[in-house]
Amino acid sequence: MRILIAEDDLVSRRLLQSTLQKWGYQVVVANDGAQAWAILQTEDSPKLAILDWMMPGLDGPEVCRRLRNVTGGAYVYVILLTARTEKDDLITGMDAGADDYVTKPFYHHELKVRLRAGQRIIELHAQLLATQAAISEQARRDALTGLLNRGAIFDALKSEVSRATRERHSLSVVMADLDRFKQVNDTYGHMAGDMVLREAALRMASSVRPYDSVGRYGGEEFLLVLPGCDHASGISFAERIRLGIASQPFPPMGEDLPVTCSFGVASVGPEIGYFETDMLVKAADEALYRAKRDGRNRVESAQSEAAQLSIATKLISE
Ligand code: GH3
Ligand code: MG
Ligand code: MG
Ligand code: MG
Repeated sequence: MRILIAEDDLVSRRLLQSTLQKWGYQVVVANDGAQAWAILQTEDSPKLAILDWMMPGLDGPEVCRRLRNVTGGAYVYVILLTARTEKDDLITGMDAGADDYVTKPFYHHELKVRLRAGQRIIELHAQLLATQAAISEQARRDALTGLLNRGAIFDALKSEVSRATRERHSLSVVMADLDRFKQVNDTYGHMAGDMVLREAALRMASSVRPYDSVGRYGGEEFLLVLPGCDHASGISFAERIRLGIASQPFPPMGEDLPVTCSFGVASVGPEIGYFETDMLVKAADEALYRAKRDGRNRVESAQSEAAQLSIATKLISE
């Protein structure tokens, strides 16, 4: 484990450094508070810090205060080191955000166990952050397919629409709906239906580029967000996914019941104009409706509708 020591007194610094090294710590040394603060602001800085109280420029409590003003990220456990023994000083130090307090000259064994306590807190905090990250990632995912859920895909779409508008890029969205899916459930049961949903999701997710987003929009409906993709590319993309689904049998029905999917594609871009997320989804939805009406297992373009919509509604840009 790496540990930062900030101590302006050369003799104390050397002593502390060699003691800690003997205990197996990797020591990062700062000669004063300003240096300590600079080190603590770097990425991957030590998570355990022993700061001398009295240092020229920034003193230990001030470094502590600055550290605690920064929110988020990994926790830095701070032990203040000082010759002071007054009760009021202890309160000031802890008030500044220090976790612990050791008086000079320190007892080796005491410092050792206090460092171990700090290490435990750091490890617990790291576990907490990892769990939090896992939970918030889980909250964005659809449990059955592992794709983004409705809220998350909509968030992704919203931010990509505003980015495309801002940067004058193209963006395509594809709304996909499995054809006559009720029949799968009715004939083979709900479990088989679930397997088909998972397999369809897998085929969609494996066809996209790393910066595309795929989500489960509803029961057997999916939404794909393709940044930087103009309308023609969006349509050929949807066509590729359509073939990927229609041309390979789905377990468990195999050849008995072919699974197909219908698609509606809508885009924004320099040649079409830029409009709101809701309008884009509506345009893709209407194109999907036409794909269903005109026989299913097909891709329909919303470009004409999109153009009409962009004229009929107030353009965001231009
Ligand atoms: P269309 O071609 O017009 O889209 O016909 P469809 O049968 O696919 O459409 P419909 O809306 O009539 O039926 C959708 C079916 O999807 C009904 C519903 O039970 C099923 N479904 C929705 N979510 C799930 C799910 O999580 N698992 C399973 N097995 N079925 C689901
Ligand atoms: Mg000092
Ligand atoms: Mg359907
Ligand atoms: Mg549907």
